[in-house]
Amino acid sequence: MPEGHTIHRLAARHRELFAGHKVELSSPQGRFAEGAALLSGTLLCATEAYGKHLFHHYSGGLSVHVHLGLYGTVTEGAGTPPVPVGQVRMRVVGGGHWLDLRGPTDCSVLTPPEVGALRGRLGADPLRDDASPAAAVARIVRSPTPMAALLLDQSIIAGVGLVYASEVLFRAGIAPTRPGRSVSADQVWSMWADLRALMAEGVAVGRIDTVHSKHLPEAMGRAPRVDRHGGEVYVYRRTGQPCLICGTPVARAGLAGRNSYWCPTCQSSSLSPTQSSAQKGSA
Ligand SMILES: [Zn+2]
Repeated sequence: MPEGHTIHRLAARHRELFAGHKVELSSPQGRFAEGAALLSGTLLCATEAYGKHLFHHYSGGLSVHVHLGLYGTVTEGAGTPPVPVGQVRMRVVGGGHWLDLRGPTDCSVLTPPEVGALRGRLGADPLRDDASPAAAVARIVRSPTPMAALLLDQSIIAGVGLVYASEVLFRAGIAPTRPGRSVSADQVWSMWADLRALMAEGVAVGRIDTVHSKHLPEAMGRAPRVDRHGGEVYVYRRTGQPCLICGTPVARAGLAGRNSYWCPTCQSSSLSPTQSSAQKGSA
């Protein structure tokens, strides 16, 4: 599933292509015909990403909400749009460009209160300047839930998927199985800062790279990673391969219905003695 950086890239691209233009909306496949008819011919004034949710805001106050889910894709081009191929849920044409949306989990027209309600269910998005992560940090450090599941919970932090969750936990030296309440607030704030930086880079380059420069293939004299997800990472989908830092085979386990990847040596699965006593003292 695309992570938040992909949705923020789409929002920026769609703003560039369509914002400020009256657009023709259609649904060649038919499932979005009513929504398309409602908004076609009106001004697309802004676009926005919030976590894994994409919004096209229209001048009358209504918005199109898109969630790509596992299978959603967006294609685009300039000039006259091609004859629709496959299940095109929504086609947007305007300003000399077109885009086709296929296979989303959701594509629907929302009123401002509905957009507000949806945002209200989402946690802090590391890619948004208006994010306020204090509530997320507070929730994580009180929770008995494993860290990997907490980071993937969109109501706590919005936009983080399995790659960023696995990688930021590796970089923090925290095993994905550790309960949130065994992690200090300082550690969670550091992970938040790390997510912000990593995801901003993901938006810039369109790929998830999480390794420090000294662990890049050229620095280590190793072959680059080959994976359809691209990017250089420490643990994600590297099961059984040696940890780039210590050589321990990367472990994988099912956690909260998702795969979790980690280095059993570099990522501590328990409290350090000092942390443990400090937390007992404050409890
Ligand atoms: Zn390691």
